[in-house]
Amino acid sequence: VIIMAIETSCDETSVALVKNGKDILSNIISSQIDLHEKFGGVVPEIASRKHIENIDPVIQEALDVAHVSLEDIDAIAVTYGPGLVGALLVGLAEAKAIAFATNKPLIGIHHIEGHISANYIENDFQPPFIGMVVSGGHTHLVHVKDYGVYEILGKTRDDAAGEAFDKVARAIGLGYPGGPKIDKIAKEGDENAIEFPRSYLENGSYDFSFSGVKSAVLNYINQCKMKDEPIHVPNIAASFQKAVVEVIVNKTIKAAQTEGLHKVALAGGVAANSKLREMMTIACKEADIVLNYPSPVYCTDNAAMIGVAAYHEYLKGVRHTMALNAVPYLKLGSRI
Ligand code: ATP
Ligand code: MG
Ligand code: FE
Repeated sequence: VIIMAIETSCDETSVALVKNGKDILSNIISSQIDLHEKFGGVVPEIASRKHIENIDPVIQEALDVAHVSLEDIDAIAVTYGPGLVGALLVGLAEAKAIAFATNKPLIGIHHIEGHISANYIENDFQPPFIGMVVSGGHTHLVHVKDYGVYEILGKTRDDAAGEAFDKVARAIGLGYPGGPKIDKIAKEGDENAIEFPRSYLENGSYDFSFSGVKSAVLNYINQCKMKDEPIHVPNIAASFQKAVVEVIVNKTIKAAQTEGLHKVALAGGVAANSKLREMMTIACKEADIVLNYPSPVYCTDNAAMIGVAAYHEYLKGVRHTMALNAVPYLKLGSRI
């Protein structure tokens, strides 16, 4: 089964060809980071326009690299939510057009289901497991019961993990996107230099809150300025990163133990974070839990993960009609 997958939910135009939900024949990612950098974040209107320019060449390149023609494809998969509505619509219109023209089935995929499914690519890793989704817009602690079957145990009550990284990075002058920059510069800092707050919320809660630690960083910077003290960027980055990662790791392990699962997977852009990978590896080892995380290229937005998720939907017989629309706030596990 060969699936063509299209992902345009944010600022990456990506097209992949995926065979049997595992072999990535091609995974072309055209990032718009340079375009949005000077605005300090993604500008939705610019993202949509760029997707329109990019989509056809990216599709062609994905076909060329995979040595596959449109006739060889069994289904067209596309992210239909959540994400920026104008950006989603570009991929959706393209997917519908190809499905209609070639008379192949159309399969709409939830973007976060894609992030989780990135864990099925490189290793032999299967549900059930605890999935910790940490991306630019989401922080979801999920019990993945089976392919496409999710129970959300907890989520963030304010900022997403990636959002907190991006906002703190901007405050310490590292620019956009901040996650990878904090990751890098933190290696030169002392993670115990500053004690930023860890928010665990009520006892037993699997929810998250990152606005407190973000405000604490901003307050710390303001105090340094008031006292005319130098701002030590590596120390702030390392201390902030540790505060965020510690909470994520502890809640994930707790969830695995409480749910009686000995498998954990990381997903989403922040899953590329080296400190999170390191601390989660240590914690899982201690708790006798098998940990999986995708290579960085499959952590951040890509179409390969959408094609992998679509394969399991395809096997279940899921097909969408031409009435499929973009759903900017689509819930994980909901079927539209
Ligand atoms: P969502 O998936 O929730 O819709 P998104 O698609 O914009 O949001 P992703 O592409 O999954 O988000 O991830 C991007 C986020 O990951 C950004 O916030 C970025 O800063 C963060 N990120 C990427 N690499 C790292 C890293 N090494 N360390 C920390 N954060 C990172
Ligand atoms: Mg992006
Ligand atoms: Fe994403």
